[in-house]
Amino acid sequence: MLIGAAEASAQGGGQQQAPLGFPGPAPVATSPLPTGRVTYRTLTEINNELERIAKANPDRVKRFEMPHKSVLGQSVFGLEITHNATVSSGKPVFVMTGVHHAREWPTAELTMEWIYDLLKNDGADPRFTAMLENVRFIAVPVVNVDGYEMSRGMLIEQKRRNCRVEAGKFPTFAECANPANRSNGVDLNRNYGVFWGGSGASVSPAGDSHRGAAPFSEPEIQNMRELLASNQVVVALSNHTPDAKVLRVPSANEEPVPADVVPYDSLAQLLGGDLNWPAGPWPKIYYTASGTMEEQAYYSAGTFAFTFENAPNQPVSWRFHPPYSFVIDQYFGTGAYPGSSSRAGYIRLIEAAANPKLHSVLEVKAPAGAKLTIHKSVSLETSPLLKSDVATDSTRDAAIKFTQELSSSLVVPKGENHVTWHVNPSMRASQHSSEFIREAWTVTCSLGGRNQNVDVVIARGETKAIDLSRCR
Ligand SMILES: [Zn+2]
Repeated sequence: MLIGAAEASAQGGGQQQAPLGFPGPAPVATSPLPTGRVTYRTLTEINNELERIAKANPDRVKRFEMPHKSVLGQSVFGLEITHNATVSSGKPVFVMTGVHHAREWPTAELTMEWIYDLLKNDGADPRFTAMLENVRFIAVPVVNVDGYEMSRGMLIEQKRRNCRVEAGKFPTFAECANPANRSNGVDLNRNYGVFWGGSGASVSPAGDSHRGAAPFSEPEIQNMRELLASNQVVVALSNHTPDAKVLRVPSANEEPVPADVVPYDSLAQLLGGDLNWPAGPWPKIYYTASGTMEEQAYYSAGTFAFTFENAPNQPVSWRFHPPYSFVIDQYFGTGAYPGSSSRAGYIRLIEAAANPKLHSVLEVKAPAGAKLTIHKSVSLETSPLLKSDVATDSTRDAAIKFTQELSSSLVVPKGENHVTWHVNPSMRASQHSSEFIREAWTVTCSLGGRNQNVDVVIARGETKAIDLSRCR
């Protein structure tokens, strides 16, 4: 089956750099990874491969460019992978990301190899065939493209954050690469709006976990915000290194126990088993953080969202991107990481996305060719912010409230008068207590200038039938 992998490794072969810690040219070698790779990809290689994979698999892969360019003006690309990728459908969505943090190179590799793995085994292994039949998988291998280029290109090898040098201004490549600016940048996994500005995030632009000047101040996170809001993302994973944890919300101390902690934590614990790592909320098994991807995804849409802290137990010198053999071992749970397989976790997550008990299902009657839109406008909050941004000031100001539009759509296929639409629950977890807020989705059918709406309240695990056949 054509997946573009052979071509990819053939092209990459000449450009491969020596693995870290090994002088001279890269050894001629191969690995059990789907592409056989033995070295970390550059950003250019990743972007070229995404293009090649999409071209080689037009029925199963759609490449997309995210709506905002990075602070250096670079495009950010992702892939949508499913059977009949060009046809809209009501399949549940699983989103996976790499490289929120620039120096965490293994996270791009794990995401890329999982893409090849899915495509290679689709049609050959019934379990994988079912994954692409039942789920739409969206991958963004490098969220922080500028930072990755700085780190992978060894200009600022230990860069964590993005290329923002001064709030509100767009820097040049040279300004970001300038050693004098190496302590600048926004921590992209502290820049999401939900609970932004709370514990475990730094106000100071020089802080390692700098939250940014405002919630969603960074274009790279505006991209992620819009991706999460414009798809029915029922499960999401943010890949990181190197601390051997499976994390879910709460990530900040300000948060309550999530309203549906039982199914959410059950999935976390199963993932913990796949990785042989502790699994649970950040403050309990890790440190605290705020403005993270999980918080945004879970509190806005009810997405069961996680972080994997991959490729652990490394010496400080190469902690965040160890020699490539550790990527291979982490992927399969072999060698240095016996019984700790990221791949097993990814299989678990995509199969969880396919499981209707973990999200909601609308059985929609509507005429062929009609456009169906599901919409909700939700009110969200940052963390309570300090009156002054001085940590010693204990006087708390109010949180910033903001509105998040959630909207996604599909077209009823030709010859059909019914669509099964896998969606997130309309009942939303409160940011303030372990309760749900009773909210409704508005589902609209449009065809030939006629519209019909219906409001539907639906909980996780429920299926509801709605009739929009009068929009004809
Ligand atoms: Zn990280």
